[in-house]
Amino acid sequence: SPTIGVLALQGDVREHVAALAAAGARPVTVRRATELAAVDALVLPGGESTTIEKLLKAFELYVPLRGRIAAGLPVYGSCAGMILLADRVAGATADQEGLGGIDMTVRRNAFGRQVDSFEEDLAVPALSEAGEGPLHAVFIRAPWVEQVGADVEVLARTGAPGASGTGDGKIVAVRHGRLLATAFHPEIGGDGRVHRYFVGMVRDAA
Ligand code: GLN
Repeated sequence: SPTIGVLALQGDVREHVAALAAAGARPVTVRRATELAAVDALVLPGGESTTIEKLLKAFELYVPLRGRIAAGLPVYGSCAGMILLADRVAGATADQEGLGGIDMTVRRNAFGRQVDSFEEDLAVPALSEAGEGPLHAVFIRAPWVEQVGADVEVLARTGAPGASGTGDGKIVAVRHGRLLATAFHPEIGGDGRVHRYFVGMVRDAA
């Protein structure tokens, strides 16, 4: 089974480790460049994108990680991780460079303060087997995707028929080549589909 790192500088690391193990991967935590060099793929957890970027630089992971992404490392970013993988960030701080890789514009904290956190059932046909229902998604101070390039596959939008949430029709899950990103947190939703899909991407890339 593939060895998949979880960047363990900040955020909900344990939940991703558990979800990756349940999806059939061998999860390891990554805090140093030697650990990054040993993984087949990487998960960037939620947290605070500006803090994670500062820590990536402080731990001397920023340059090697950009290099591995450019060389085709499969990476899945959730929430803050989605922001880090975006080529363009609306609402970025002045010193926020990101890692980039996905041809999209994301807006930080897009769903607004009045709905800092919400849950919504999303239709995710590209991630589902026949007969599987919607994915119950947890959003926490989440970004949304404002624009995607032609090579980006949209995997989920809010506002599916019958959904009770907010922000109708906003793009909240995308894939661009070997990069996957969700605005929500499947590692705390109890639904294994996103992690299984990513493990499948990693196997296909091997
Ligand atoms: N609002 C955070 C950011 O801008 C992301 C929140 C999250 O990861 N749950 O980085």
